[in-house]
Amino acid sequence: MRIRCPFCGERSHAEFSYLGDAAPTRPNIGTRATVPDTTLFVDYVYMRDNRPGVMREYWQHVGGCRSWLIVERNVTTHAISNVASAREQVLAATEGEHP
Ligand SMILES: [Zn+2]
Repeated sequence: MRIRCPFCGERSHAEFSYLGDAAPTRPNIGTRATVPDTTLFVDYVYMRDNRPGVMREYWQHVGGCRSWLIVERNVTTHAISNVASAREQVLAATEGEHP
Protein backbone atom coordinates (compact mmCIF):
# COMPACT_ATOMS: atom_id res chain seq x y z
CA MET A 1 0.00 0.00 0.00
CA ARG A 2 1.27 3.48 -0.90
CA ILE A 3 0.20 6.70 0.82
CA ARG A 4 0.53 10.11 -0.81
CA CYS A 5 1.75 12.45 1.94
CA PRO A 6 0.63 16.02 1.07
CA PHE A 7 4.12 17.27 2.00
CA CYS A 8 6.49 14.48 0.84
CA GLY A 9 4.66 12.77 -2.02
CA GLU A 10 3.81 9.10 -2.50
CA ARG A 11 5.62 6.76 -0.09
CA SER A 12 5.41 3.19 1.16
CA HIS A 13 3.02 2.61 4.05
CA ALA A 14 6.04 1.30 6.00
CA GLU A 15 7.06 4.95 6.55
CA PHE A 16 3.77 5.64 8.33
CA SER A 17 2.38 4.73 11.74
CA TYR A 18 -1.32 3.96 12.11
CA LEU A 19 -3.18 5.49 15.04
CA GLY A 20 -6.77 4.53 14.36
CA ASP A 21 -10.24 5.70 13.48
CA ALA A 22 -10.50 9.47 13.07
CA ALA A 23 -14.27 9.58 13.48
CA PRO A 24 -14.75 9.42 17.28
CA THR A 25 -14.55 12.68 19.19
CA ARG A 26 -13.21 12.87 22.74
CA PRO A 27 -16.12 13.16 25.19
CA ASN A 28 -16.33 15.93 27.77
CA ILE A 29 -16.34 13.93 31.00
CA GLY A 30 -16.54 16.88 33.35
CA THR A 31 -14.15 18.64 35.65
CA ARG A 32 -12.37 17.51 38.80
CA ALA A 33 -15.08 19.22 40.86
CA THR A 34 -17.67 16.79 39.56
CA VAL A 35 -17.79 13.02 39.40
CA PRO A 36 -17.12 12.18 35.74
CA ASP A 37 -19.15 9.66 33.80
CA THR A 38 -16.23 7.41 32.82
CA THR A 39 -18.39 5.11 30.72
CA LEU A 40 -18.34 7.75 27.96
CA PHE A 41 -14.53 7.79 28.01
CA VAL A 42 -14.27 3.98 28.11
CA ASP A 43 -16.58 3.79 25.08
CA TYR A 44 -14.44 6.44 23.31
CA VAL A 45 -11.20 4.51 23.93
CA TYR A 46 -12.27 0.88 23.52
CA MET A 47 -15.59 0.58 21.69
CA ARG A 48 -15.02 1.02 17.97
CA ASP A 49 -17.02 -0.04 14.96
CA ASN A 50 -15.34 -2.56 12.67
CA ARG A 51 -17.26 -2.07 9.44
CA PRO A 52 -16.15 -2.74 5.89
CA GLY A 53 -15.89 0.19 3.50
CA VAL A 54 -14.29 3.63 3.62
CA MET A 55 -12.96 4.89 6.96
CA ARG A 56 -11.19 8.10 7.99
CA GLU A 57 -8.03 7.12 9.85
CA TYR A 58 -5.17 8.91 11.59
CA TRP A 59 -1.70 8.08 10.25
CA GLN A 60 1.63 9.74 11.09
CA HIS A 61 4.46 10.01 8.57
CA VAL A 62 7.10 8.88 11.08
CA GLY A 63 9.66 8.04 8.37
CA GLY A 64 9.32 11.45 6.73
CA CYS A 65 7.96 14.83 7.76
CA ARG A 66 6.31 13.43 10.97
CA SER A 67 2.99 15.11 10.07
CA TRP A 68 -0.29 13.67 11.25
CA LEU A 69 -2.58 12.84 8.36
CA ILE A 70 -6.21 11.87 7.89
CA VAL A 71 -6.37 9.07 5.34
CA GLU A 72 -9.67 8.01 3.79
CA ARG A 73 -9.15 4.32 3.07
CA ASN A 74 -11.37 1.43 2.07
CA VAL A 75 -10.47 -1.11 4.77
CA THR A 76 -11.57 -4.00 2.54
CA THR A 77 -9.59 -3.14 -0.61
CA HIS A 78 -6.99 -0.74 0.96
CA ALA A 79 -7.79 1.76 -1.82
CA ILE A 80 -7.01 5.29 -0.59
CA SER A 81 -9.41 7.98 -1.80
CA ASN A 82 -8.00 11.04 0.04
CA VAL A 83 -5.09 12.11 2.25
CA ALA A 84 -5.09 15.43 4.10
CA SER A 85 -3.14 17.14 6.86
CA ALA A 86 -4.89 16.52 10.20
CA ARG A 87 -3.58 19.86 11.50
CA GLU A 88 -5.06 21.82 8.61
CA GLN A 89 -8.42 20.06 8.98
CA VAL A 90 -8.56 20.85 12.72
CA LEU A 91 -7.57 24.48 12.12
CA ALA A 92 -10.24 24.82 9.42
CA ALA A 93 -12.87 23.23 11.67
CA THR A 94 -12.04 25.48 14.65
CA GLU A 95 -11.50 28.70 12.68
CA GLY A 96 -13.02 31.59 14.55
CA GLU A 97 -13.25 29.74 17.89
CA HIS A 98 -10.03 31.27 19.26
CA PRO A 99 -9.28 35.00 19.40
ZN1 LIG B 1 5.38 13.48 4.90
